[in-house]
Order: sequence, then C-alpha cells, then structure tokens
Amino acid sequence: MEEQTVTTGQLQLYDTMTRLKRLFEPLEPGKVKMYVCGPTVYGDPHIGNFRSFVSADLLRRWLEYREYDVTMIMNITDIDDKTIRDSAKAGKPIKQFTQRYTLGFLRGLDALNIRRATANPRATEYIPQMITFIQQLIEKGAAYIAEDGVYFDIDKYPDYGRLSGMDLTQAQTTERMAKDEYDKESVEDFALWKKSTPEELTRSETESGLSWDSPWGKGRPGWHIECSVMTQDLLGDTLDIHAGGEDLVFPHHTNEIAQSETLTGKQFVRYWVHIRHLMINGKKMSKSLGNYVSFDEVLAKYNPDAFRYFYLGTHYRRPLDYTDYAMQSAESSAKRLENTLDLLEAVQKAPDTNIDLGSRERKLLNEVAKHKAEFEAAMDDDLDSHTAIDALHALSGVINDYLTTTPNKGVTLRVYMTYRSILDALGLFEKRGGGTDKLTEDLIKALIDLRNQYRKEKNYKSSDEVRNRLTALGIILADTAEGTTWKIENK
Ligand SMILES: [Zn+2]
Repeated sequence: MEEQTVTTGQLQLYDTMTRLKRLFEPLEPGKVKMYVCGPTVYGDPHIGNFRSFVSADLLRRWLEYREYDVTMIMNITDIDDKTIRDSAKAGKPIKQFTQRYTLGFLRGLDALNIRRATANPRATEYIPQMITFIQQLIEKGAAYIAEDGVYFDIDKYPDYGRLSGMDLTQAQTTERMAKDEYDKESVEDFALWKKSTPEELTRSETESGLSWDSPWGKGRPGWHIECSVMTQDLLGDTLDIHAGGEDLVFPHHTNEIAQSETLTGKQFVRYWVHIRHLMINGKKMSKSLGNYVSFDEVLAKYNPDAFRYFYLGTHYRRPLDYTDYAMQSAESSAKRLENTLDLLEAVQKAPDTNIDLGSRERKLLNEVAKHKAEFEAAMDDDLDSHTAIDALHALSGVINDYLTTTPNKGVTLRVYMTYRSILDALGLFEKRGGGTDKLTEDLIKALIDLRNQYRKEKNYKSSDEVRNRLTALGIILADTAEGTTWKIENK
C-alpha cells in the first residue's frame, strides 16, 4: 500500500478505489456530500453493523470539526428478499414489519450518539425514480428485459469490478443473478427490477409496499438500484464520499458504480470509504455460528460511552474483536476521560481563589496545545482514532495534574473548551447529568452538606448511609481538594 506524506491540517482519506491514502478535496470547496449505506430493516440491530455506523459518524464529525458543511444521507432498505421473506414468516404486513425495525435502528443511533443524517430515505419512497433510471439504462443498451425482470448487462460497463480489484478477463458472464446478494465468486448480471412472484402478488392484494406497476409488469426494485437512485436524487451525480462496511465492496458498491456511471457518464464517487468487519471473540459474526451479539445485550451490560469508546479505540480499517475483556477495558478508559471532564466542570462551580497566569498555567496551556495538535494530526491521518485517543489520554493526564492544586478558573475554562471540542469530535459523553433541574441539584447539595456535617462529627455510620443512599439512586459523590462533587451515572 502506497501512502502519501501527511501534511498538517489536511485530511487524508484512504480510498478503496485507488487503494491510496489521498488528500481529501470535495468537489465544491467547503461542502461535503456524503452517503452511507443504511440497514436492511428485517431484524434487531447487532453490534457488527454499528461498527460501520459509528465509523461513518466519526468521519462526518471530523469533517464538521474541520468546518465542512456536510450533507449526509443514509438510506433505509425496506424492500428486498429478506424483508419480504421475514415479514411473511412473522405474519405481519411488510410496512408494519419494517417500520418496527426502522425505529429500533434509529434508537440505536441515538443510544450511541450517532449524529442523525440529513435524511433517511426509504427505498419504497423512490419507486417512480427507480423505474425512470432503469428505463434509461435499457435505452442506453446497458440493461435488458428477461422473463423474471430487468437485468444490468455487466459486459456493457468496461470498468466493472475495479473497486474490488477483481480480474474479469477470466470470468465469462453467461449467467444472471436474481437474488439481491450473491456470493463473492459469481460475477453475473444483476437484477434491476424483479417481477413479483405469485406469492407476492397474492400478498399485495391486501397490503401495500410489496409490488408496484412498471413498464415490465408488477414487481419491485433490486437492492443495488436503490442507492444509485437515492444518491442521484438527493446529492447529485457525483458524491464526495460513499461509505459502508467492507462486505459491500462486492457486489453492492460494484453494482452501484456500474449503474450510476453508465447512466451519467460521470465519476460516481470521489472517495470510497470501507469499514472493516467486527469480530466476536476472534470469530466472524454469523448466524450459522450462533455468535450474534445484539445491540441491546451490550447496552444492558455497558455504558453507551464505553460502547462507543470500544469502537473508536481501533482504527476503522484494522481488525476489532468484541470480547468482555475489551469492553471492560474500554469502560475503565472512558471513565478516566470522563473523570477529567467532571473535574473541569467542578472548577467552574467552585469559588475563585487563583486568577494568576503563572508558570503552571503557561506550562498547562503549552501542553494542552501540543496534545491537541497531536490529536488533530492523528485524525487527519485517515481518522486514526487509536492514536488520537492516546493523545487525548495524554491531554487528560496533564489536566488532572494541574487540577491537583488550586486552579485558575479562566485558564481552566479555556482548557475545558478544548477538551470538550475534542470529545465532541469523538462523540463521547454527550448525555451527562441526566438533565437535572435546579430543585434536584439543591436537594443533592443539601444531602452532601448533611453528609459533611456527619463526617465532621465523626459519625461515619450516618455519613456512609447518606452516600450509599445517593449511590443507590445513581448519584456518585467524589471528595476532592475543592470539596465534594457529584454526578449522575448515565448507565
Ligand atoms: Zn447502498
């Protein structure tokens, strides 16, 4: 892998198409058009998918940190082989079935502090545009009508397979593939439009969202055409960034390129970003191995920030293995970072005792600037969040050191702003304090005063009782040089 030298202040992104880390330059200066392949909504979210979504969110946040105006689209696939099959199995109308899993997915995004996309278009909302797109491909001679639907003729797109680096000189394409996903070895014409099966036609007599009229009879779109149509409609012919899991390189993204570039004659995507699979205890997650880990299962055990930290702790193109040990270690590392945030916030509530810009303050500001620069350089280097988080821990260490003695409030505020902006770039600790009101805060303070009174009187039985009762409510006390601070565990 050839890599360019990293220049300060400029983002370099690894692009799957060129297999190079390239300087990121959007088509229109200052603006980024980004598309992320969203989920097929036929089951509860699992933690494998979310590695992709957290990584795409990290990229989007970093672009926003670098002051780009980002328009991000993430589709929802609510019609395909799997949604049809599983809604029938569940005995539910397909619309009701996919709606349930769409909402579950969106809740998952919120739980992990994933910034919402500008829009989440559903495939079923774009059927007329898909029909027009397919019609144009037929007119161009790149698609043909068969007895069970309309197919894209991959021989008509000379660069087919370039994204995945496959050698097509050997492959003879005499076959057609009707399924939405096919195995990695078969290189075949793929379906753009599928005629409804007799079973689908029967179901569509009583429910909508399954079958649509088209010039080729009643049917529904193939999976790949969705993304080509929605990107064009919402973002235009050329995207700056198209992101997704590595399993989408072939056939999904390969087919999107063939369809879109054949139709427009323009470059479809400037930077292809692919995120590596998540492993579970050293094995690939798969239904056949029975090692699926659901999203809710992890959230029941760990704090959402620990969960997000776990994903961010490894560069998105490197292997990442989900184990309990890795999660526990993520949880304790995240806690250390949050503790620094608590300390910084506590200073702002404490009385002023130091307003000097002395040698300690100057040293702190220098070190903060240095670690901030290290953080930014790592993020600019193809989002190396692993190295960036090392810099963040170094930053947290110098802040903690400074706060062991009476801090200057103004200097601490400046440091807090830097620290918070870095945490925002990573999407950590966004939901804190549980949204307490003034009365709750006053009540907690009154109980802390009561506890301190007991301690003064050496009545430790009662002071511990107060603390334990608060802990049971998720209110955690910490005794510092500046007095007792508190926070609400967001577990
Ligand atoms: Zn897609």
